[in-house]
Amino acid sequence: MANPEQVVVLGGGISGLACALRLRQLGVPVTLLDEGERPGGLIGTVEEDGFLFESGPQSFQGTDLLLELIRELGIENELCMADARAPRFVLRHGRLQKVPMSPQAMLGSSLLGAAARWKILSEPFRKTRTPTEEESVASFVRRKFGHEILEYLVAPFVSGVYAGDPEKLSLRAAFPSLDEWEREYGSIVRGAIKSRGKGTKKGPPPLCSFRRGVGTLTRAMAARLGDRARMGARVDEVRKLDAAGCARYQVNSVFEGRGETLSAHVVVVATPAYVASHLIAPVSPTLSHALSGIAYAGVAVVASGYYANQAKAPLDGFGLLIPRSEEHRTLGIVWNSSLFPGRAPEGQMAITSFLGGATDPEMVEKPDETIVAIVEDENSRILGIVGQPIACTVWKHSKALPQYNLGHGHIVEAIREGESATPGLYFAGNYLTGPSIGMCVEQGFHTAETVSTYLKSDNLG
Ligand SMILES: Cc1cc2nc3c(=O)[nH]c(=O)nc-3n(C[C@H](O)[C@H](O)[C@H](O)COP(=O)(O)OP(=O)(O)OC[C@H]3O[C@@H](n4cnc5c(N)ncnc54)[C@H](O)[C@@H]3O)c2cc1C
Repeated sequence: MANPEQVVVLGGGISGLACALRLRQLGVPVTLLDEGERPGGLIGTVEEDGFLFESGPQSFQGTDLLLELIRELGIENELCMADARAPRFVLRHGRLQKVPMSPQAMLGSSLLGAAARWKILSEPFRKTRTPTEEESVASFVRRKFGHEILEYLVAPFVSGVYAGDPEKLSLRAAFPSLDEWEREYGSIVRGAIKSRGKGTKKGPPPLCSFRRGVGTLTRAMAARLGDRARMGARVDEVRKLDAAGCARYQVNSVFEGRGETLSAHVVVVATPAYVASHLIAPVSPTLSHALSGIAYAGVAVVASGYYANQAKAPLDGFGLLIPRSEEHRTLGIVWNSSLFPGRAPEGQMAITSFLGGATDPEMVEKPDETIVAIVEDENSRILGIVGQPIACTVWKHSKALPQYNLGHGHIVEAIREGESATPGLYFAGNYLTGPSIGMCVEQGFHTAETVSTYLKSDNLG
């Protein structure tokens, strides 16, 4: 075996790339291995017949940390920001209803009935107490706001972020601020106002992408790592090395059909949890068991290109979410070409439909043709689109997003305990602190900083 690597990062999605890049910034030599042909994992942009389609995330919130990373990578000129006033819609009784974004808009909104609107507006005056046992998102919303708000506002939003089932998602794990605000102030609205007062009074981060798609970010991150990021390297297992004074771990992988072995002082596993569980089983069966407890939901993504005049009215806005009670299979549709420039040729439009999720697990099992037929039919019934798309691409992510279900907090605690008991083995990924791109980067950076401190304390850094 060659000289040991200082750190090997397994997985080149945004979490692994962020961790490897931060290690590099901290002066720690790092090698990243990913089984894919291109970096980015779930993030992937393709250009087809003049359309720009995204296989996973369609945009991201430009948090301060992400904007700083983008500047550091020298790609800020590529950045585009969506119009913050772009309306979002929810389908109710077959009609698109604007989501109210302010108390004034709430008063006149036709998305919710008068009683539901009153529940929201009067919430700051009704103090409630958090139950002692862990609560699901659905039970929390029913208790505080009633069923209509759950069905037409919260459940569709939960589908949009987690592809999740609100009856199973843990409020504390998936939306920790809501849990905290009720605990501290007895009211969500009051908590939100107070927390904004404590901060910089800036509005929410802008919704961003790049001229050439979200993949610009992960391509630039991988380019910065240069030949330290090795694509096409499938890791099969991580083993512990016992010899004192030498590297702690052995990473076995397959590259271009040949088995390869690396030894490393530190291994950061940044694959999905179910892969991590399998890879580290020889090192710690306990950790492997904890990781295997994280459930995933599958998502089918269908990107479609049409002539603009195929829609009965211009699609202006972010897009729409569709409550399950509307009895469609589509969970939501993003109107890409209304949000960002360069998504479709002149006179044409690009939209992306999402199907499946925790409440419709069979969808990702269906053949592509069936999924496309469902999308064409529903695009016609919901948006009034006439005729076939001129371009269409389907991605089926059978395990797309980790579910922050009831008990998730205990699983993460067990993973963290296992990590502390296994020096030199670390984890990063969207199942730990949040699935958004911003959270993955923040967490990848944090893991890198912990690794750097560990190496210094072990006199290896
Ligand atoms: C459909 C969809 C829409 C989304 N929309 C948004 C959005 O609009 N905004 C937002 O902020 N977030 C969004 N997200 C969430 C976000 O994209 C993900 O949470 C994030 O990209 C996950 O990054 P990751 O690095 O943790 O995992 P992944 O991207 O899954 O990366 C894991 C990597 O591990 C590699 N790997 C796996 N097994 C092995 C192995 N054995 N050996 C070597 N490598 C291996 C894979 O190739 C992959 O590159 C969306 C997610 C999905 C699925």
